[in-house]
Amino acid sequence: MSLIVMKFGGSSVGDAERMKRVANRVVERQREGHQCVVVVSAMGDTTDDLIDLTKQISSATPPAREMDMLLTTGEQVSVALLSMAIHSLGQPAVSFTGWQAGMYTEAVHGKARITDIQPERVLKALKEGNVVIVAGFQGMTTEGEITTLGRGGSDTTAVALAAAIEADVCEIFTDVDGIYSTDPRVVKCARKLPEITYDEMLELANLGAAVLHPRAVEYAKNYNVPLVVRSSFNHNEGTQVKEEAAMEQGIVVRGIASDKNVARISILGVEEKPGQLAKVFTALANAQIDVDIIVQSGVMNGAADFSFTVALTDKDKALDVIQNIRSEVGFREVSSQENLVKVSIVGAGMVSTPGVAAKMFEVISDLGLSINMVSTSEIKTSCVIDNSRLNEVIQALHTAYGLDTDQQAFVGGPKDRR
Ligand code: ASP
Ligand code: MG
Repeated sequence: MSLIVMKFGGSSVGDAERMKRVANRVVERQREGHQCVVVVSAMGDTTDDLIDLTKQISSATPPAREMDMLLTTGEQVSVALLSMAIHSLGQPAVSFTGWQAGMYTEAVHGKARITDIQPERVLKALKEGNVVIVAGFQGMTTEGEITTLGRGGSDTTAVALAAAIEADVCEIFTDVDGIYSTDPRVVKCARKLPEITYDEMLELANLGAAVLHPRAVEYAKNYNVPLVVRSSFNHNEGTQVKEEAAMEQGIVVRGIASDKNVARISILGVEEKPGQLAKVFTALANAQIDVDIIVQSGVMNGAADFSFTVALTDKDKALDVIQNIRSEVGFREVSSQENLVKVSIVGAGMVSTPGVAAKMFEVISDLGLSINMVSTSEIKTSCVIDNSRLNEVIQALHTAYGLDTDQQAFVGGPKDRR
């Protein structure tokens, strides 16, 4: 008998019919002799709808505490209904909120990190033969305040709970069959990956692949939780996410991701003196703005230029921060650019294969596009480009790296160097 955590996202429990289908699936598992803990998100677009409601109340940013109070209701509806659906199939079940399940978080609203899990009630209810249903996305501070884990946070609830109760596997059920080499809506011949490493998945999740929440992957990696991503609509095998994953013969790039939530900010004519970069980036950090790629160009006549990227949603805030430190830093002008996208290729095999990044630059320039910024790590290369022809770029890269399902694999750089 194994202990399984099953997580169902908003689309999998989008209406009563789907909810019943999930109930069937869970009961089927339980009757195979497994113990099941189920984590669910709010139904369909509930969370977005709740956010829209707040905008009708006031144009001001709502108090973060009340926002959490509101948004956690979505998940509470789901757990109760799913529990009822499971009961109606003759299987005992009990639903818990995040706080009842012992999910403690730091005292931050809107994007709290889990600090501790005390799963005694969950374990006791399991022992008594119940399917245990836990609301995703929710937590509580040690002071008893309700928190949320950030958008898409139910994945994190599931993985963290799986680690805490030492589950044998955490299955993430979603509306696609698993992790694909790239978004199958963009590339028709995208391939489903049988396996992927935690590190690759973490890069892809951070770089814009929306299938899994990055924090959930981080958690899975740190606690070595075996993860499976699979469809809630069929019984296909899905993708295993684990420490080491087999690479198909000759494949060096596992996946391609893109992120349109990016803006470039350039600060021109910065007075050249020690500590300038530190001033700028400390000010941004103090304003809770994440900076991604940073490029500093050469110094000319005692002045330097530098550019960096931030989330598009942080752009205006970042520009304000820069204006506020203008006198302290001393620069000629600041400008920003939108309509960009960061395209990334990810693969653990990249470290040991020459020519992988070069191929990416070539593919992009063959489409007549210029590359604004580049960043690399051992297992990824990202390029910031104009976003107008994104789908074409992704398709071309997919083909160039031999990822199309009907194609032979790309085997790296010049043959004689391998
Ligand atoms: N309901 C929350 C959201 O939509 C959490 C989740 O779906 O994982 O962001
Ligand atoms: Mg959701």
